[in-house]
Amino acid sequence: MKENYLAVALTKRDVGEADRLYTFYTKEEGMLFVGAKGVRKMGAKLAAHTEDYMLTRIVIAKNFGPGTLAGAYSEKSSIQIRGDYDALCTLERIRGIFIRLMRSQQQDKYVFDLLVDLIDAIEQSVKQTSSKTKDLSEESYRPQEYLGSAFLLKLYESMGYRFPLDECAVCEKSLEPEKNFFSAYDGGVLCSGCARNMPHSLPLDVDTLKAMRLINTHDFSQAQKVIITKRIASQLQLITDHIATWVLR
Ligand SMILES: [Zn+2]
Repeated sequence: MKENYLAVALTKRDVGEADRLYTFYTKEEGMLFVGAKGVRKMGAKLAAHTEDYMLTRIVIAKNFGPGTLAGAYSEKSSIQIRGDYDALCTLERIRGIFIRLMRSQQQDKYVFDLLVDLIDAIEQSVKQTSSKTKDLSEESYRPQEYLGSAFLLKLYESMGYRFPLDECAVCEKSLEPEKNFFSAYDGGVLCSGCARNMPHSLPLDVDTLKAMRLINTHDFSQAQKVIITKRIASQLQLITDHIATWVLR
């Protein structure tokens, strides 16, 4: 029996002399772990259509167990990402968290589309920045890392982890426009008074909190348009990593 899937190739691992084990996130069944026989031998076309982060149509032959990869044809190959170190670093961080969170074989079209949108958005941002001269000033800060964090916040939200962003999670007072803190272990955003005794709390600037509110209230494609600074991007990275640790605890 053969089954067709639309899939994002996430990772691959060599097994034995010529075989591979692939991890795909599919539109039809969520995460799939599939073996491929002889894929590394000369002339194996499958390999060219199953590179990391490609959107690809795959055919899986199912006789017993998880099945084996019988065919693949890439729909989007995201060429720009492959040559961009920053983009690859961001995607590697996101992929690591994503694979640990999405273990189950369960269809989730929202998450599938979100993943495809993230890869598209990163591909586009590499295209845009590579046409300009490389400049390390705040204004021209590369947005890939922000895109990755916005994706994770949307992913957490879809899993039911949505944090209130208007009041302190402990004392419930309205948050002042000043430096606040974040701790998923203590319910989300904390005012400075309440954060004092919380060992997990991370700093949260006014602008970072604004960015989180915007991501909360807009869909991913709209949230991409925010202008952010390197400082906001790095706070969001710490916070989204922290939430992953908390979810997976
Ligand atoms: Zn408080």
